Amino acid sequence: MPASSPARRLDGIPPTIFAEMSALALRTGSVNLGQAFPDEDGPPGVIAAAVAALEGGHNQYAPSIGDPALRRAVADHQLRRYGIALDPDTQVAITTGATEGIAAALLGLVDPGDEVVVLEPYYDSYPAMLQMAGGVRRPVTLRSPDFRIDLDELRAAVTPRTRFVLLNSPHNPTGTVLTRTELEAMAELAIEHDLTVITDEVYEHLVYDGREHISIATLPGMAERTLTLSSVGKSYSLTGWKVGWATGPAALVAAVQSAKQWLTFTSGAPLQPAVAKALTTHSEYPHALAKELQEKRDLLCAGLRAAGLQTSTPQGTYFAMSDITDLGWDDGLAFCRALPQLAGVVAIPAQVFYDDPHGPGRHLVRWAFCKKREVIAEAMSRLLVADLRA
Ligand code: PMP
Ligand code: GLN
Repeated sequence: MPASSPARRLDGIPPTIFAEMSALALRTGSVNLGQAFPDEDGPPGVIAAAVAALEGGHNQYAPSIGDPALRRAVADHQLRRYGIALDPDTQVAITTGATEGIAAALLGLVDPGDEVVVLEPYYDSYPAMLQMAGGVRRPVTLRSPDFRIDLDELRAAVTPRTRFVLLNSPHNPTGTVLTRTELEAMAELAIEHDLTVITDEVYEHLVYDGREHISIATLPGMAERTLTLSSVGKSYSLTGWKVGWATGPAALVAAVQSAKQWLTFTSGAPLQPAVAKALTTHSEYPHALAKELQEKRDLLCAGLRAAGLQTSTPQGTYFAMSDITDLGWDDGLAFCRALPQLAGVVAIPAQVFYDDPHGPGRHLVRWAFCKKREVIAEAMSRLLVADLRA
């Protein structure tokens, strides 16, 4: 009999919410504040470098571990930005976006039955890839309205079977930027229990109000046990390029590379020299982008509050979270599915990023502000005039 259903390793993994909500936005002509992609492209000089690479013969496989110029540029970035010295030949691997970095890290490092402490709500590829790797997730919930880590809950999540912490800061979808104190607690726990930290820092440059993103690998004793993932998408408004990187101890990077070679072998050859250029000659771009995004965040948060939605002010990322309880709704998924009809706007129900759909995320909705000011303003005026009550 031909197979008629997905393999058991995919049991219970739903289709990604981003596909459903972007299709809904297209179908209904709604303003899409759901799936996060900017509506303005990154630096023209970087795009020109990709065109030059396409026309200049960079059209065959790049080395599996990545274009040497890009690996050097990533190592330089980590040194310049965080003071972390890396050997570009053994401590940097280029991935097809951070998404492949996450997949290759989990497939390359996690054994079946290993427990992985992970912040909830989580980016949706984490539970999917953890399940495919056979890992067991141990969520630590960031609770509204301030979405901080409860350090007692964090300590309680660690058991004798825990081997990894999967961290994300700045955090999607809450916008939390972990503080030095929170990261130090995490580091203390990792050292005490001999855990490896996998940290997803794709929003590393997108922090607001003068805050600093601290990379956990910079804390004492952490460089040797931390695998750091990032990518070009968010920092340079090039989300469609899907070029990312994994950095850290050679043994951890080698594990990523061992899995990555069988996933994609290599990533888009002409884009890699262009990303190297972004990291070297356009290193100021992410800072200017963050300044612009902070203003857009304020525009969005003010609009959401004016429309009657309690909204937390995010410290970083592309996202703000609202609580829909005051409007009489008790289910974010139902709210988001109705929103195009009610107001012509699309958002993401945060409950899909929690283990329990009836739990602490049920009333939370995520809005993306990586859009032109006029687009955010249009969405906010639609929300303001609509009757959003249940
Ligand atoms: N991690 C987080 C937290 C994200 O929000 C995203 C979304 N882009 C990714 C990873 C995936 O990054 P990329 O597009 O580089 O694969
Ligand atoms: N990272 C994007 C978000 O959180 C989505 C990327 C994707 O569609 N997988 O909206």
